[in-house]
Amino acid sequence: MEKGSQLYEGKAKKVFETEDPELLIISYKDDATAFNGLKRGTIEGKGVINNRMSNALMQLLQKEGVPTHFVKELSDRETLVKRVKIVPLEVIIRNISAGSFAKRYGVEEGIVFDEPTIEFSYKNDALEDPLINEYHALALGLATREEIETIKSCAFRINEILKSFWSSCGVTLVDFKLEFGRLPGCSIVLADEISPDTCRLWDSKTGEKLDKDRFRRDLGGVEDAYREIMSRLEQKLEAVK
Ligand code: C5P
Repeated sequence: MEKGSQLYEGKAKKVFETEDPELLIISYKDDATAFNGLKRGTIEGKGVINNRMSNALMQLLQKEGVPTHFVKELSDRETLVKRVKIVPLEVIIRNISAGSFAKRYGVEEGIVFDEPTIEFSYKNDALEDPLINEYHALALGLATREEIETIKSCAFRINEILKSFWSSCGVTLVDFKLEFGRLPGCSIVLADEISPDTCRLWDSKTGEKLDKDRFRRDLGGVEDAYREIMSRLEQKLEAVK
């Protein structure tokens, strides 16, 4: 599949048209940003890791019946996906307190919740992705009631599948962000990526952070953490082949 013109360049990815109007090519970059673009840097090799990890996890989810935009991995950094209209909501699931949750509610990180939580942010860079509730999302016409219900149940199901997968790799899935899109017939599929950029992943034994928090918080060892989490995933996938 040939790359056509560039449709969009985001913080971590570029998106290209293809000769098929229903398919796009995503190309993953090594660029890293945090705090709505205030902090910028490069994580060497990140694009390759995020591409391969996201594709492996999307395929795992597809096998479990979760519809996704994934079509085919084209190269180390490029993947063919179904063209969707992104629902402008970031969907965040949390199993353990961390990040903005811990800050907002004044609690320490690491509190294991009895039940996972869900929250939405309005995808809008100019407004810095503010938190939004379902009623506000409906009022703004960002999604229909039915779509929100589908997204919620899909997100919780994805959490169960990913939690169990990462646990088998000796990794605790703390929280993560998902984005969903509408296919031409309007059905909802999982889109964007699932990677150490979009998930908090802690070593189950030591609690070591194996995700983008190492970059956000200047903890050092960023590239090593990305390589370590990728190698855990690959070892697991190899073992179940
Ligand atoms: O910062 P916060 O605690 O709200 O992040 C929750 C989860 O969502 C983290 O795993 C983070 O990596 C992810 N996230 C993201 N993109 C954003 C905001 C959060 O991937 N714009």
